[in-house]
Amino acid sequence: MRDYEVECIECGARFSREDIVYTCRKCGGLLDIKYDYSEIDTERVVKAKGEGVWKYRDLLPFAEETKPVTINEGNTPLYGCDRLAKTIGIDDLCVKHEGLNPSGSFKDRGMTVGVTKAVELGVKGVACASTGNTSASLAIFAAKAGVPCYVLLPKGKVALGKIAQAMMHGAQVFSLKGNFDDALRVVRVLCEEEKLYLLNSVNPYRLEGQKTIAFEVAKKLDWEVPDRVILPVGNAGNISAIFKGFLELKTLGVIDSIPKMTGIQAEGAKPIVTAFKEGKAEIIPEDKPETIASAIRIGNPVNAAKALHAIRDSGGVAESVTDDEITEAQLMLARMEGIGVEPASAASIAGLKKLVRMDEIERDERIVCITTGHLLKDPERVIKICEAPKEVDADVDVVRKMLKM
Ligand SMILES: *Cc1c(COP(=O)(O)O)cnc(C)c1O
Ligand SMILES: [Zn+2]
Repeated sequence: MRDYEVECIECGARFSREDIVYTCRKCGGLLDIKYDYSEIDTERVVKAKGEGVWKYRDLLPFAEETKPVTINEGNTPLYGCDRLAKTIGIDDLCVKHEGLNPSGSFKDRGMTVGVTKAVELGVKGVACASTGNTSASLAIFAAKAGVPCYVLLPKGKVALGKIAQAMMHGAQVFSLKGNFDDALRVVRVLCEEEKLYLLNSVNPYRLEGQKTIAFEVAKKLDWEVPDRVILPVGNAGNISAIFKGFLELKTLGVIDSIPKMTGIQAEGAKPIVTAFKEGKAEIIPEDKPETIASAIRIGNPVNAAKALHAIRDSGGVAESVTDDEITEAQLMLARMEGIGVEPASAASIAGLKKLVRMDEIERDERIVCITTGHLLKDPERVIKICEAPKEVDADVDVVRKMLKM
């Protein structure tokens, strides 16, 4: 049995592994999974065989014999992006495309761990509030595990591809009259009262899966970590998880520095950026978050405390970008590097561009951007920003005349 504790990050209170608890019962703080690193065989981590999230099961909270609920998540490519780097004015840029996970977003990394834990705990159902990708991923893993799945989506605010997935994989889908933060508030109470297992990123097991992004980046670069990792921030679980992943590798002596964790939010939903810039430890929730990047349209990020630690302790920054900057970055990624991402993911590139322009990022830094979700998640946005196909007669000369060359 891999020994671990469930511990409050604020007051240090500990909870039993069989206890279904999402935030500290004493102080309301976020929970973290803690290991005794002196018991972990570093050599086994470095030389681990297999692929994806479960390759790193020595750093996951399960017994050796636990059978994972898996659909081969993780193991996403890290693309060198020389053309884009040159355009932005930096020397070294790689993009880790998490949109190439089985459901099309990084959420699969957290869900394989979270749903495996749900099965181990013997829960009667799983549930989440979602801006879309969490519900798509949970529906798939719940289907694989044969567990009932309930998802609450903010009405009219979820990209088409994501709803399609939740519906197709058999979740009970609710369209809630309210925003994401309302949906989360409702589902938290529902889970408590109906004994359903909550799989939003407040669930600390999800972040254990997502920290493997750090392991894969470090391994791919022969354990020479980049100077900076940039990613979009919504509920702020992923930036916290990736930071934890790097911290664990450093604790184990596998790497000797931590990348500057750099979080990007949209101008219309930036409580973490505001708290960071004002030097505050807590965020002030935003009532009406608004951005075209629906995956990060979140006014009250649950993992804010962890994310602010991650950003500050690693010497990173938090910055915001406009919807226009996001759209421009989405097009650049697609047309210079062949990487198709949904708007939220492009925020990482938009943020990089802005921080270079502000001289916050130096030209010779080695940068990794995480693109969190696939282009096809949000086809309606593509139709809005790209030129429509031209209707033509079935005649060579007619088509030829219209070719732009
Ligand atoms: C969930 C999600 C995010 C935000 O991640 P957090 O962990 O909530 O900060 C960003 N982009 C995409 C595509 C997502 O699905
Ligand atoms: Zn506590």
